Amino acid sequence: MSDTLHRFQLENLHVRGEWLSLSQSWQEIQNTTDYPPAIRQVLGEALVAISLLADSLKFDGSLVLQIHGTAPVSMLVVQATSDGSIRGLANWQGEISSDASFKELFQPVDDKNGNSRQGTMAISVEPSSTQGERYQSLVSLEGDSLAECFTQYFAQSEQLNTRLWLAVDDKTASGLMLQSLPSEETETLSVTQSDGWDHASILADTIKDEELLELPAQELLHRLYHEEDLRIYDAKSIRFECTCSQEKIEYTIRSIGEEEANSIIAEQGSVTVDCDFCNTNYVLDSVDVTRLFSVADVNISNADANGTGSVH
Ligand SMILES: [Zn+2]
Repeated sequence: MSDTLHRFQLENLHVRGEWLSLSQSWQEIQNTTDYPPAIRQVLGEALVAISLLADSLKFDGSLVLQIHGTAPVSMLVVQATSDGSIRGLANWQGEISSDASFKELFQPVDDKNGNSRQGTMAISVEPSSTQGERYQSLVSLEGDSLAECFTQYFAQSEQLNTRLWLAVDDKTASGLMLQSLPSEETETLSVTQSDGWDHASILADTIKDEELLELPAQELLHRLYHEEDLRIYDAKSIRFECTCSQEKIEYTIRSIGEEEANSIIAEQGSVTVDCDFCNTNYVLDSVDVTRLFSVADVNISNADANGTGSVH
C-alpha cells in the first residue's frame, strides 16, 4: 500500500491544510541504515515536513532540506519531489542517547580556530525545468523541535501563516500542516482571517501524537474540524524512490580524476560506490573506468551535485 497525502480546506476559516502519513516509504528509508532512535525521530519529522511543504508549493521539481555543521549529527538531508517521491539520510558520530533532544542533536561545532559555529538549516527549491531558478532559504536551528523551527521561520518571514504538527514512531511518520489562504482567495468573510487561523491552530494543538500516527485522514480531520466547513481532497501517493543512477555515479568517479580511479583499481580491482540513500551498490571495473575517461566531452556543468555516495 502506498503512502498518502490529503489536501483539505476549512472554507469558513480561510485555512488550507495537508495531512500526510508515511508507512511503507518510512520503513524503506529506515531499512537503509540502523538509526539511533533520536535521529530516527528527527529524520522522520524532516521527511514529513519537506513532503508537506513540497506539495504546498505547487511547482515542478524538488525541495531539499539540509542541516550541516552540527554535532553529533553532522548532516541531515531530505528531498521530496513534486511528483511524490521522497528520500533522506542522516550522518552522525558517536553514541546518541535515546532521549537526546533536538537541540542536543544539532549543537554548534568549534571550527579550527576554536570559535563556536552554528549549524545551518537550509531549504532549497530546485525546479526541474531549465526556466525556473533554484533558491534557498535559511531556517534558524534555535527551536526546540523541527516543527518549532519552521513555525519561527514562517512567523519571521513575511509569508502566509503556516504551522506543522509532526509525529514519528518506528512504523509511521505523520504530519499535519495548516496555512492561511491568501486574502484574495477568501470571499465574504464571516470571521476575520486571523480569528479563523487562530481557531484552526488551537484545534490542531489538541491532537495527540497517537492520533496523528494512527488515525486515517478522514477520521482525524473530522474529529478536529467536524463543526467547520471541511472539504477533503483526493489522496496523492507518496513513495520512497532514489534518484541515483549509473550516470550520476560515473560523474562522481570522473570528478575524482583518472589517476585516483586507476589507483583504486590497482589496489582493489574495482571502484565501488554505495548510494547512501538507498544502499544500491555500483561497481566499475578497469574496463568501465577506461571507457569513462576516454569519453571526450565530459559535461561537468550538468553534474548532479547531490553527493549521493562515497567512493571506495
Ligand atoms: Zn540511491
